[in-house]
Amino acid sequence: MNMAEYGLLIDYEFCTNCGSCVVSCKEEHDYPVGQWGIKLHSDGPWQIGDDEWNWNWYPLPTDLCDLCVERTDKGREPICVHHCLANILDYGKIEDLAKKLVDKPKQLLIVPGFRPKQAKGEFVHRTNKADLHTAAHLQAVGDGHAEFGAHRHDARVGEYEAEAAKE
Ligand code: SF4
Ligand code: SF4
Repeated sequence: MNMAEYGLLIDYEFCTNCGSCVVSCKEEHDYPVGQWGIKLHSDGPWQIGDDEWNWNWYPLPTDLCDLCVERTDKGREPICVHHCLANILDYGKIEDLAKKLVDKPKQLLIVPGFRPKQAKGEFVHRTNKADLHTAAHLQAVGDGHAEFGAHRHDARVGEYEAEAAKE
């Protein structure tokens, strides 16, 4: 799944500050004390006019939000969407959600950044003694959602060799 294709549409006009999204996200991901996948922010109350006040609650995903990839990969909605008591959270493709922005004001379209929770690495060192060619191949997989590799083929590989020899 390309994470940049999906996001959350938040109709913050009707957020009640119930905290259900915060708690359900934390429990689903087993985040420790002091970490959250989504947090509530408030602005207000402060007076605009005689009978008018600014007071909004904004549920905003953090950098730990992975868009509930373990659920959404199976066709289920994110747990915060599932548990939102006011039904103001919507998950989907950015292009589909963006079209809904014209339906009403006081909406936020959020595309969380992706930070893998785990990374598994493998270092494979190869040396071709015939032409003194030295290369290293490093692969890392981020909990099944991101995959990338790096290939070094320069003098720094020798430095790594030297460091390893000292250990
Ligand atoms: S989409 Fe999932 S990870 Fe992101 S804020 Fe909602 S519950 Fe948390
Ligand atoms: S569950 Fe919905 S209504 Fe409750 S705080 Fe979160 S976004 Fe707002």
